[in-house]
Amino acid sequence: MAERGRFTGRTVLVTGASSGIGRATALALGAKGANVVLGGRRRDRLDAVAAELKAAGAESATVTGDVREEATGPAWVQAAVERFGGLDGLVNAAGVLGNGSVMDTPTAEWRRLMDANVDGLFFMTRAAAGPLKARKGAIVNVSSVAGGVRPYPGLAGYCVSKAAVDMLTRCSALDFAPHGVRVNAISPGVVVTELHTVTGAVADYPAFLERGKTTHPIGRVGQAGEVASLILYLLSDEAGWITGANVSIDGGRALASAR
Ligand code: NDP
Repeated sequence: MAERGRFTGRTVLVTGASSGIGRATALALGAKGANVVLGGRRRDRLDAVAAELKAAGAESATVTGDVREEATGPAWVQAAVERFGGLDGLVNAAGVLGNGSVMDTPTAEWRRLMDANVDGLFFMTRAAAGPLKARKGAIVNVSSVAGGVRPYPGLAGYCVSKAAVDMLTRCSALDFAPHGVRVNAISPGVVVTELHTVTGAVADYPAFLERGKTTHPIGRVGQAGEVASLILYLLSDEAGWITGANVSIDGGRALASAR
């Protein structure tokens, strides 16, 4: 058994749990006693996270699928409820990055970003509504400093998709509030994960990280575990009066201009 923690007896569905921020959040939740439902497309990676959770004494279940498909949200939520009896939290961490200015973003790339970052998050949120209302749970959406906070050149589709996440967060917060469900977003700066490399969005990753020392006023990029800590706080009862917020966690990145 994991050490009794502030999430003992609670069940949280984490999308994008196969790597990066989602994975770190799943592990942190497990360490605090949560039952964690791990969602993503790569079964082997999800199984590896599940094994880590098991070794730490935490309960988990893995669900595979593509968040862009409308049926994935209901399937994952149903699996969570069947396995653990209900749902107390949803972390929408699944997302993709892509480059392109307004002038040169191909339609297919625009759709890829919107489908994964916006539609996927909407489908998942809508699917989780019933169980979350029943438990007065909470949702955390992973947005970005490149969302409503500020635009960056050559990143139009991604920025717009994350700005949509910000507004979807606020719309959801209003719609869910009468049911006792809180909905918040976080806006990270650059965090060391697979996001920038998995689709080749950043060609020279070491140079990109080195540049992060100057583009983030605090002098460094972030780690997924740091972001997970904020997500856990927003999911927890300690954040019981916070809803509709977008909390920056970016080493001051939003204060600096250059990309
Ligand atoms: P990773 O690439 O490490 O993780 C992305 C996760 O999303 C993976 O687990 C991937 O799983 C999942 N995913 C992507 N597309 C789909 C899909 N269509 N269906 C199901 N799962 C999907 O990146 P991060 O951890 O960095 O990204 C997590 C979130 O944080 C994203 O929303 C990103 O935009 C945001 N963010 C990240 C920042 C950073 O610097 N890293 C900064 C600001 C925001 P799989 O491939 O197995 O499907």
